[in-house]
Amino acid sequence: MSAPSTNPVTPKDVADQMIETIAQWVDKEVIPNASELEHGDEFPEAMFQQMCEFGLFGATIPEQYGGLGLDVTTYARIIEELSRGWMSLSGILNTHKIGATMIGRYGTEEQRQTYLPRMVDGSYRAAFSLSEPDSGSDAGALRCKATQDGDEWIINGTKMWVTNGERAHLVMLLARTPDDRVTCFIVEKEPGDRFEGIATSKKIHKLGYKGLETVEMSYVDHRVPHTQMLGGDEGMGNGLRYALSALELGRINIASRAVGVGQAAFDSAMKYAQERETFGKPIFQHQAIQFKLAEMATKLQAARLMTYDAAARYDRGERIDLEAGMAKLFASEACFEICTDALRIHGGNGYTQEYDVERYFRDSPLMIIGEGTSEVQKMVIARKLLERNPID
Ligand SMILES: Cc1cc2nc3c(=O)[nH]c(=O)nc-3n(C[C@H](O)[C@H](O)[C@H](O)COP(=O)(O)OP(=O)(O)OC[C@H]3O[C@@H](n4cnc5c(N)ncnc54)[C@H](O)[C@@H]3O)c2cc1C
Repeated sequence: MSAPSTNPVTPKDVADQMIETIAQWVDKEVIPNASELEHGDEFPEAMFQQMCEFGLFGATIPEQYGGLGLDVTTYARIIEELSRGWMSLSGILNTHKIGATMIGRYGTEEQRQTYLPRMVDGSYRAAFSLSEPDSGSDAGALRCKATQDGDEWIINGTKMWVTNGERAHLVMLLARTPDDRVTCFIVEKEPGDRFEGIATSKKIHKLGYKGLETVEMSYVDHRVPHTQMLGGDEGMGNGLRYALSALELGRINIASRAVGVGQAAFDSAMKYAQERETFGKPIFQHQAIQFKLAEMATKLQAARLMTYDAAARYDRGERIDLEAGMAKLFASEACFEICTDALRIHGGNGYTQEYDVERYFRDSPLMIIGEGTSEVQKMVIARKLLERNPID
C-alpha cells in the first residue's frame, strides 16, 4: 500500500490565501462603502481596524520583531487589492511601511528593538517627512534645520505634504545638519495637531486621496535626543541616501496602487459598457468602445507584469533601481489613462458621484506625482541606463 501523498503548505499558498481573504473583504466591505467615506473625507476607522487585524502594519517587518515578514511580491499584491477597493487604504499603510523599512535597514539594533515590535499592530504608526514647501523633486534642497545642543538636536523648519502626520506616533524627519548634509531623525510625538514644538498647521484639501490627512508641519525649537538619529552616529549626513533607498522600494508600492486603481476603473467600464445601450445595442458592441477597452486591458496587463517583475527581482536579491522606476512610471501613467477612458465610457454618468469611476479619476494623478513625478522617474531611469550601458 503506498503512503498517502502529503502536500506541504508552501509560503506561496499562505500568501495566496491571505490575498484571497483581503480580496473578499475588499469586495464585501470596502467597495460598497468607500465612496461615501471618501466624499465625507472621513477616516475609515472600521476598515483601519480590520487592516490591523489582518496584520498589515507589520506585513513587511521581519518575524524576529513580531511582524509577518512577507516578501515584496506578496506585499505588492496586497496593496493592489486594497487600492482596487480604495486607494486611500494603501496610503494609511504606506508611510508606515517606509518608516519601518528605514528603521529595519538603517536603524541601530537598539532602534530596531525599540520601534519595530511596537509598529506591527497599527497602534503605533509612522509618517515620512521629506518634502517641504520649496523642496519636492529637488529633495536635496530641503531647509529644515537640526542644530546640536549637547546630547539633543533642536529642529526648526516647515515640512509639507506629511501624509498621516496628525495621527502618527513617529515621524521619519529629514533635516539639514551642520555638516550641510541631510540626516534622518526618528521624531516621537503624540497623535494630534500640537506636540511640544510641533504644530500641524494646515490640513491640505486634496483632489482625491481623501479620508486620510496630509498636513503641513512646523517645528519650532523642537528637541530630539541624539539617540533618535537614524543609524546612530553613522547616520549623520546619510539621511537622504536612506530615504531615497526606501523610496526605491516605495516605487513598487506606488506601481501596485496604480494597478489596483486601474483594475477597478477597467472593471467598472467593462460592466457599464455591457449594460448601457445606445443606437439599439450595448455600447460594448460599438467598435470605438471595444478598442478603448482592449487598450485599457492591455496597458493594465503590462503594468501588472512590470510591477510583479520588479517585486520578484527584489525578492531574489537583484538590483531594482531601473526596474522599479520603470514600473512606477509605466503603471502610474497607464492608470491615469485607463481611469480617463473609463470615465469617458461612462458618458455623463462618469461625471457624477453616483458612480465610483469619478473617484478613480480623481485618485489616479497622485500616482504620477507621489514618491517622484514621472519626469523624475525618467531622470532616474536615464541615469541608470547610462550606468548599465557604458560604451567602454
Ligand atoms: C497627496 C500627497 C501626499 C504626499 N505625501 C508625502 C509624504 O507623506 N511625505 C513627503 O515627504 N512627501 C509627500 N508628498 C510630496 C511629493 O513627494 C511631492 O509632491 C513630489 O515629490 C513632487 O514635488 P513638488 O510637489 O514640490 O513638485 P515640484 O518638484 O515643484 O515639481 C513641479 C513640476 O516640475 C517637474 N520638475 C521638477 N524638476 C524637474 C526637472 N529637473 N526636470 C523636469 N521636470 C522637473 C515635476 O515633474 C513637476 O511636474 C505628497 C504629495 C502629495 C500630492
